[in-house]
Amino acid sequence: MSLTISEFKVRNVAVIGAGACGLCAAKELRREGHKVVVFERQGQAGGAWMYNPTVEADPLGSDPSRTIVHSSIYASLRTNLPRELMGFRDYPFVSTGQPYSDPRRFPGHREVFLYIKDYATAFGLTELVRFETEVVYAGLVNGKWRVRSRMANGVTVDEIFDAVVVCNGHGTEPRTAEIPGIDAWPGKQIHSHNYRIPDPFRDLVVILIGFGSSALDISMDIAQVAKEVHIASRSAKVGVLGNVSGYDNLKLHPMIESVHKDGSVIFNDGSVVLADVILHCTGYKYHFPFLDTNGIVTVEDNCVGPLYKHTFPPALAPWLSFVGLPLMGIGFLLYEFQSKWIAGVLSGRIGLPSEEEMMRDVEALYLLLEASGIPKRYTHGTGHYRIEYMDWFAGECGIPAVEEWRKEIYYATKKNYLVRPHAFRDEWEDEDLALKAHEDFTKCRSNGVDRSCIS
Ligand code: FAD
Repeated sequence: MSLTISEFKVRNVAVIGAGACGLCAAKELRREGHKVVVFERQGQAGGAWMYNPTVEADPLGSDPSRTIVHSSIYASLRTNLPRELMGFRDYPFVSTGQPYSDPRRFPGHREVFLYIKDYATAFGLTELVRFETEVVYAGLVNGKWRVRSRMANGVTVDEIFDAVVVCNGHGTEPRTAEIPGIDAWPGKQIHSHNYRIPDPFRDLVVILIGFGSSALDISMDIAQVAKEVHIASRSAKVGVLGNVSGYDNLKLHPMIESVHKDGSVIFNDGSVVLADVILHCTGYKYHFPFLDTNGIVTVEDNCVGPLYKHTFPPALAPWLSFVGLPLMGIGFLLYEFQSKWIAGVLSGRIGLPSEEEMMRDVEALYLLLEASGIPKRYTHGTGHYRIEYMDWFAGECGIPAVEEWRKEIYYATKKNYLVRPHAFRDEWEDEDLALKAHEDFTKCRSNGVDRSCIS
C-alpha cells in the first residue's frame, strides 16, 4: 500500500550549518514539506568556501579555547574536481559568464562560493537561515531534540525540534602527525588549516607532512618562495610526485622517524634535513562539540558511529542524521542524494530497515574494512565503492542513478591527477565527456544565465 501525500508527516527540523550540505538539506527537507530552521554561526552561507585571510592564533589548532576560523581554504585553491562534478544535479555549476566569474573548468574557490550563494538565492534558502547563530547544544529530551543556540549578542535560546540534521562541516578541526622528539625541536609547526599564502615561508626549509590534494597544492605553492620543501609521506602514491617537474627545491621522503633539538629532522630512510618549519597537511577530525547523544554516537579514531550508510545512527534514526561525512567522491551530488533520502525517510515516504538490520549493516562494513586492512580512521572514505554508494541512495529515493558521463569524468579526473599532478586542472583528455555533461545541463536549464534545472 502506498501512502498519499496527506499521510506524509511534516517534521520540525533543525539543520546545523549553512554550507553546501546544510543548504542542500534545507532545500530537500522543505521540498518534502518539512518545517526547517538552519543555524549558521557565520554571517553568510558558503561554509568552507568562504575564504578567510585570517588564521587562528594557535597555528596547530590544538588549543580548544582558541577562536575558530571555519574555512581552511588557501588563496591559490582551485577545485580538485572539474565543474561538471562540483554542482548539484538540479543546479549545474556552469559559468555564469558574468565579468567577475572564473570560467575555468577547475575554477578558484571564489567561484564555488558564489555558486553556493546563487544556489541559496535561486531556491529561496536564505530565508530559512539564522545567521550569526551558533548551536551550542543539541540533545535528546523526552524523544525530541532540544537545540540551544547563541546569537551574536550572546543571548541563548532553547527550542524543541523533531529532528536534527548535522551539517557542520569536517574541514576545520586539525589532525596532526605524531612526531618523536617534537617537544624539544626548536622549529615552528603549523597545520594546513592555517595556511593561506606562501610568503611567510620565503627562504625557509619546510617539511610538509601528508599526501592529499592540499598537500600537493601547498607544496608547489611554497616551493616557489621557500629555500627547500621536503614532503614526508607514508603513502606509496607519493611516487606520483616524481612527475612534478620544474621544482628543483622540492624533495620526497618517507615518513619522519624523529626530530631533534639541533633542528634536524631524520626520515625513515636515514636522510637528514635541518628544517625551520613542519607543516602538517594531515587532514581534519570530525568534531561535534554541541552534540549530546548520551553516548549513542561516538567519534573514535575519526570514525563517527555507528551510522547506517554514514548517515543515521540506528538507535536514533531518523531523528538524527549527518550529511557529508564521506570524504572524496562526488561531494555535491552525494549531499543532494543523502538529503533527499533523509527528507523522504523523515516524512515516512521512504522506509528504513529495523534498528537491528541497520546495526548489522554497520557491523558488516566495519568487518569488511578490518578484513581489508583499512584503518578505522578511513571508515568514511567510502573507498572504491563510492559510486555504488551514491547509486544506492538514488535507488532508495527513486531518482536516476549517477549519470554515466559523471562517473566517467570522475574516473578520468582521478587518472589525470596521477599522470599530471601539477597540471591536471589545465590539461585533460576527457573533453568529449565535458561536452556531454554540458549538453545535459543545457537541456534542463531555462536560459543561459540561470543555472537552475527547475522547469
Ligand atoms: P562546510 O562548507 O564546512 O559548512 C559547514 C557550516 O556549518 C559552516 O558554514 C559553519 O560555519 C557551520 N557551523 C559549524 N558549526 C556550527 C554550529 N555549532 N552552529 C552553527 N553553524 C555551525 N570539495 C569538493 O567537492 N571539491 C574540492 O575541490 C574541495 N576542496 C576542498 C579543499 C579544502 C582545503 C577543504 C577543507 C575542503 C574541500 N572540499 C572540496 C570539501 C568541502 O568541505 C565540501 O566541498 C563542502 O564545502 C562541504 O560542505 P559542508 O556543508 O559539509 O561543510
